[in-house]
Amino acid sequence: MIRELICVACPIGCSISVEFDENNNITSISGNQCKWGEAYAVTECTAPTRSLTSTVKVTGGKKPLVPVKTEKPIPKEKMLESMAVINSVTVKAPVKIGDVIIKNALDTGVDIVATGICPAE
Ligand code: SF4
Repeated sequence: MIRELICVACPIGCSISVEFDENNNITSISGNQCKWGEAYAVTECTAPTRSLTSTVKVTGGKKPLVPVKTEKPIPKEKMLESMAVINSVTVKAPVKIGDVIIKNALDTGVDIVATGICPAE
């Protein structure tokens, strides 16, 4: 089996072909122009991850929401569950950039942090 990917590790966007044997092990990777492309292809085919951005509700602030993101990519299969956790959280103003909003989200070892500010009223 061959899987075709577009590398998103840089703006060039190389087309990468990943070939698998009958046991679903990677046998070859081609089309990448650098080692980051190979690393991207291996991760994407074995343990895909994504960064997550969203907003969290704020009480007592000048704005009702503050933007947040995962400090690092998290496993792709945790995205929906992570959104549910983020949507269930309300933080109290003031919020500063970098504040940890959710520590170790879903035991991923990754914190959800604020990427914007929300001053108190
Ligand atoms: S393989 Fe390398 S050069 Fe090509 S898109 Fe990925 S990071 Fe960029």
